[in-house]
Amino acid sequence: MDKEEILSKFSADPVKYYKVKLFEEQGFERKPCAKCGRFFWTIDGNRSHCPEDSDDTYSFIGNPPTKKRFDYSQAWKEVESFFVKNGHTSVSRYPVVCRWRDDLYFTIASVVDFQRVMGSKVVFEFPANPLVVPQMCLRFKDLENVGVTGRHFSSFCMIGQLSIPNSQGYWKDECIDLDFRLLTNKFGINKNEIVFVEDVWEGGGSFGSSLEYYVRGLELGNAVFTEFQGELGNHTTLDQKVIDMGAGLERFAWITMGTPTAYDCCFGPITKNLVKKVGIDIDSNLLTKYFVEIAKNQGRFSNLLEVKEHAIKNAGLSPQQVTKIINPLEGIYLIADHLRTLIFAISDGALPSNVGGGYNLRIVLRRIIGTMQRLGLDLDLNEMIDWHIDYLKKTYPELKEKKNDVKTIIEVEAKRYEESKIRMQKIADNLKSKKQTPNVDDLIRMYESDGITPDYLKELEVIPEIPSTFYSRLSDLHQSVTKKEKETLPLQNIPETDLLFYKDDPHQFDAKVLKAFDKFAVLDRTSFYARGGGQEPDHGKIAGYDVVDVEKHGNIVVHELKGGIPKEGETVSCMVDSTRRDGITKNHTSTHILNSSSREILGSWVWQNSAFKEADHARLDITHHSALTDEEVTQIEKKANSIVQKNYPVKIENFDRGTAEQKYGFRIYQGGVVPVKSVRIVSIKDFDVEACGGTHVKKTREIELIKITRTKRIQDGVVRIEFVSGKTAQDYVLQHENEQEKIKEEQDAKEEKDKLREERKEHAREKIPVLLEQISQSPIGTSKVDEIEVHTTEAGRFCYSTSDQYDEYFHINFGEKLIKNDPKASYCGIFDTDSTVRAIIYSGEQSKNKNAGSIAKEISKILGGSGGGNTRFAQGGGKDKSKKDEAIKKAKSMALE
Ligand SMILES: [Zn+2]
Ligand SMILES: [Zn+2]
Repeated sequence: MDKEEILSKFSADPVKYYKVKLFEEQGFERKPCAKCGRFFWTIDGNRSHCPEDSDDTYSFIGNPPTKKRFDYSQAWKEVESFFVKNGHTSVSRYPVVCRWRDDLYFTIASVVDFQRVMGSKVVFEFPANPLVVPQMCLRFKDLENVGVTGRHFSSFCMIGQLSIPNSQGYWKDECIDLDFRLLTNKFGINKNEIVFVEDVWEGGGSFGSSLEYYVRGLELGNAVFTEFQGELGNHTTLDQKVIDMGAGLERFAWITMGTPTAYDCCFGPITKNLVKKVGIDIDSNLLTKYFVEIAKNQGRFSNLLEVKEHAIKNAGLSPQQVTKIINPLEGIYLIADHLRTLIFAISDGALPSNVGGGYNLRIVLRRIIGTMQRLGLDLDLNEMIDWHIDYLKKTYPELKEKKNDVKTIIEVEAKRYEESKIRMQKIADNLKSKKQTPNVDDLIRMYESDGITPDYLKELEVIPEIPSTFYSRLSDLHQSVTKKEKETLPLQNIPETDLLFYKDDPHQFDAKVLKAFDKFAVLDRTSFYARGGGQEPDHGKIAGYDVVDVEKHGNIVVHELKGGIPKEGETVSCMVDSTRRDGITKNHTSTHILNSSSREILGSWVWQNSAFKEADHARLDITHHSALTDEEVTQIEKKANSIVQKNYPVKIENFDRGTAEQKYGFRIYQGGVVPVKSVRIVSIKDFDVEACGGTHVKKTREIELIKITRTKRIQDGVVRIEFVSGKTAQDYVLQHENEQEKIKEEQDAKEEKDKLREERKEHAREKIPVLLEQISQSPIGTSKVDEIEVHTTEAGRFCYSTSDQYDEYFHINFGEKLIKNDPKASYCGIFDTDSTVRAIIYSGEQSKNKNAGSIAKEISKILGGSGGGNTRFAQGGGKDKSKKDEAIKKAKSMALE
């Protein structure tokens, strides 16, 4: 739908769509902007332009229009007390990681807290009505503006004022009246300064009018009245109209403080501390002039560089002032903003990584470190985290508990960045030497594959500027998750299946066949669990046919059969394979236990990323920054089994979704978003509470045992834990014990062998001198000394042995000493190895042949192998053990004849 079209239609009937009681009471006049034509409402008779085209744009900088000064924390306290006094419930913020919507990674607006997606429809669920919430929101679309424009943040607090017009809530008149009184009474803004601009909002199939309110060109809030659905002209009024007023808390603080930038009053003492630490000589007159120019020029130029150039020129800044003041200040602002974003995201369980929303977190951390290095700022990230949390805890006390976790993750991630720098440097150098300037697509690819930020390339002068579309493109790529479509089957007009597995779960039951086609059967009732939530389907028999798969299509369970299908209308007997179901069930409850055990051992950032539960094995993928150590695995397993042993009951209760969220928090969404109004909560005491549709044991000891079989870091930020439970785990342990035993036996055998060898060595060392002495006295002819054959002639002496009492060590040592003792002697030692026969040859200096190498070569040929060496020492051998005698004969003839 075209927004302009809706706006022109609504603005054509202002009484119906925009005129509220307050306008009449206070004497607001409706005017078109003399420049752009937009309609606005004002009390100031002299005002002729809309806020964005007025001369007083950003004149609050250096001269705030309020009587009171409120910093960030105080501003929220004021807003909160005002709305609470006026009948609103103050609701704590929701996580910045949007666990309840699978189309968003991060919470991007306060209204998102209360939106739940059901099919293609967005419905509202309010924990109170009316309400107000200080919702931190994360947006990564215009990171290049953060720190530079004075008003862009990657995380900001959107005050949400929400109301459903029923007996408790209110509609337009009261909303605008409240907002007007908040500005005038609470903040002391002169009513002449307040301008309401007509606008419209549309999204998710619904739309409505909206009134944006401005003070001195700064949009403070936008009250959206979601009222209609459908196409304009053919639309209907929503059953549930909603007021969604969103206002930037940062701006509320800023307009009362009038500081040069919103950063100066929204990070508590952090900006000041950093300015002092870095030692920037601040001249607030100069900064006021510069940032007013920045604000004014932003509407005029789309390119940030141009905005800056004009601001520098108009504010009369010298190049030195830019280098000494503006550049380091921008860096400080960026660091403060980005770090605050990381604190919220990590506290709420997100991890920097190269997948999903983690991309955005990684890039902001890399920008922090890059900025520190570029500007040579010696800053301590841990100290800054302390400052931030210390300041923010007034509004967000929950951050305190996560302080150490935040520090751990940032440290791990910073280290990872340093480690990847060598590679990044290489790629950058390569681009530079080729004089290539990468375009936006190249930059996105380089960031995704190598983690190279454009900031880094800019610093190395590979690119002159970060393209203005880079961050928005990247953010779009990683904002939402795409869903897989299920195959469509002809299931029209079939009623929902009665799910027996959520009732008394009979494993033998009769059911009526409502539909049978191809290989599928649909029953009126079933105990067959359909694949879902990572739990694999039941198997068994329907009418004698094997059930091989079960899927849910909407609320209809479809059984896939093998061998045939029953007739439609028939009543059939069905049987669920209980053994299989039992294994799956134990593994499913084990998944819950392991998930919470991992979180307890590793840290609060651990969430279930995905899970898979089969009958005889299962896996749980958790979010964690590094591979698990053996020690961690042992501890997780120990913790899990302690829960098994405590025999805790596994409680299953159904809650209204909103109630469950309020009672247990968003931790319940470990398995992802629950697209139904009533959630099934599976709890194991306080240890683990999850929204889950799977089958579970009644008490934890039924699981018997959980055994982790393998863990692996499967992707950046995700670790896989493979495990078994129940009988499979017992079997695994037994088998593992057997394996251990076998390994031990092998080790013993090896030790025995080593010992024997040592003994033989020892024995040989003692025996060789004695043998040599005996042999040296052998007469001419043939003799035998302890299994060594000795042939003595005038020409010399040839000794050999094939006895298995001698090993390699003996032959080498004996032969060497023999020819040393008697230079006319030769030696051939033959011994068996597992599959071959080996020969050691020595020829004395004055022996007849004088060449051990040639003897080795010849006899190896006989033995069916090869050999060689030098004149004194050689070795060889072959596979033919039956040719030993022949080999010896050859050696003897070569040595003596
Ligand atoms: Zn205008
Ligand atoms: Zn589950």
